[in-house]
Amino acid sequence: MKALLIVDLQNDFCPGGALPAPEGDMVVPVINSLMHAFPLVVASKDWHPDKTAHFSSWPKHCIQGSWGAELHPGLRQDVIHQVALKGTGDKDEGYSAFEATNISLERYLKDLSVDRLYITGIAIEYCVKESALDSVKKGFRTYVVRDAVAGVELHEGDVEKAFREMEHAGVKIVTSVEISQG
Ligand SMILES: [Zn+2]
Repeated sequence: MKALLIVDLQNDFCPGGALPAPEGDMVVPVINSLMHAFPLVVASKDWHPDKTAHFSSWPKHCIQGSWGAELHPGLRQDVIHQVALKGTGDKDEGYSAFEATNISLERYLKDLSVDRLYITGIAIEYCVKESALDSVKKGFRTYVVRDAVAGVELHEGDVEKAFREMEHAGVKIVTSVEISQG
């Protein structure tokens, strides 16, 4: 059983938001086109309280219940089966979707016999990478969909470095075309 994980495709991480990936919105149609290929779709959301130690490293973003924390309006939401909320505490960084506090993502996926996890979303160097590394550690065959993830590239080379780190850990990098062709 395979599942699609959409990481943090929220307004604040798209152009116009508080902490944007420059091409964050460009992956929305790619992800929409992938959903039909998966029997299970999970979306993670950064979901921070107003005051958190996390904001000593980052500008305020994805405050619980705010516009910035909503999923991008272009994302198809009728086929998202579960939302995983992370970074919910006041000391909680919540980079990985497996740190969600409203559900145990690992337990949820394993109870549904998921063994292959395909990861999309934002941002390649932070939440996508940490989610992918955790996914490998928890025993899932883990794929990152190259054209369905967006990076921040705070420093030049950050995105490629993140891809190398993920590959080194055993993550496979694939394209949306390869998935659509089965
Ligand atoms: Zn955050």
